[in-house]
Amino acid sequence: MSEIRTIAVLGAGTMGNGIAHVAARSGFHVLLCDIAQNLLEGGLATIEKNLGREVAKAKITKAEGDAARARIDPVLDRQALSRCDFAIEAATERFEIKREIFRDLDRILRPEVILASNTSSISITKLAAQTSRPGRVIGMHFFNPVPMMQLVEVIRGLQTTQETYDNVHRLSLALDKTPIEVNDAAGFVSNRVLMPLINEAIFTVMEGVATAEAVDRIFQLGMAHPMGPLTLADFIGLDVCLDIMRVLEEGTGDPKYRPCPLLIRMVDAGWLGRKTGRGFYVYS
Ligand code: NAD
Repeated sequence: MSEIRTIAVLGAGTMGNGIAHVAARSGFHVLLCDIAQNLLEGGLATIEKNLGREVAKAKITKAEGDAARARIDPVLDRQALSRCDFAIEAATERFEIKREIFRDLDRILRPEVILASNTSSISITKLAAQTSRPGRVIGMHFFNPVPMMQLVEVIRGLQTTQETYDNVHRLSLALDKTPIEVNDAAGFVSNRVLMPLINEAIFTVMEGVATAEAVDRIFQLGMAHPMGPLTLADFIGLDVCLDIMRVLEEGTGDPKYRPCPLLIRMVDAGWLGRKTGRGFYVYS
C-alpha cells in the first residue's frame, strides 16, 4: 500500500468528527463526508471547539490547532473521496446504511485503499463481503471522546489480510492511539463485556436492589471505575445500548444477552440519556 496522506472519514457525527480531529491533529489531510451541509457544519464546529479546548489546556499550540483545522475539507459529493489513501466509515449504526457506503466506496476508491469501519457491533466480515476487496476491510473501533480515549479495538474480519492489519496497526500508532487486536464476533470484546454489565446494572435498578446512584457509587468506589455503569449508559445513549444488546442476543442466540425490560421502556419513552436530557439522571 502507498503511503497514507489523505484519510476519508464518512459521517461527521460524534465519532466521525472525533476521528477527523485526531487524524488532522496527527498531520493527515482529512476529507470529512456527510449527507447534508448542516451536518458537516455541525461536525466542523465541534472540531473547532474541541481543538480550541486543547489549545486552552496547552496540549497543542494555537498554530497547531489552526493547522489541524486547515487540513480538514468538508465533502458532500462522495466522488471527491476518490483521491483518499484510506477510508474510515463512522456513519449511523445501521447495516443498510453501511452496506450502501461500502459498496459505493468500493466503486470509487483505488483498489489498494483500505476500508475501515468504526462500527460498534456490525460484523466486519459481512461488511467486507459487500466489496470486491474483502482482504482490505477491517474494523477500527475508536472510543468516545475520540481525542481523549487511547484505545482502538482493531477487528479482523474473516478475510482481512495480515498486510491490512499491519497497515492499520501502524496508522493507529500514527494517530497516537494504542491498537488492540481482536477477531470478528458479535460486540467484539469491548461491547460484549461492557453491555451485559450495563444491562445487569439496569436489572438491579428495575428490581429495586439499589438506586441508580448507589449502583454507580459501588462501581466508582469499589472497582475504581471513573464513572458508574448507569452514568456511562446515559453518556453512550440508552438507544445505542439497547441496539447493541439486541446484536449480542441475535448474534449469539444466547438468552443471557436479553435486554432488560426497563432499558426497553426507557428507550420507548424517549429517555435516551444525556442527548435527550433524561436517562437514569436528569441533565439540564
Ligand atoms: P452519530 O449519529 O453522531 O453520527 C452519524 C453520522 O453519520 C451522522 O452525521 C449522519 O448524518 C451520518 N451519515 C448517515 N448516513 C451517512 C452516509 N450515507 N454517508 C455519510 N454519512 C452518513 O453517530 P456516532 O455516535 O458518531 O456513531 C457512528 C458510528 O460509530 C456507529 O457505527 C457507532 O456504532 C460507532 N461508535 C459510536 C460510539 C459512541 O460512543 N457514540 C463509540 C464507538 C463507535
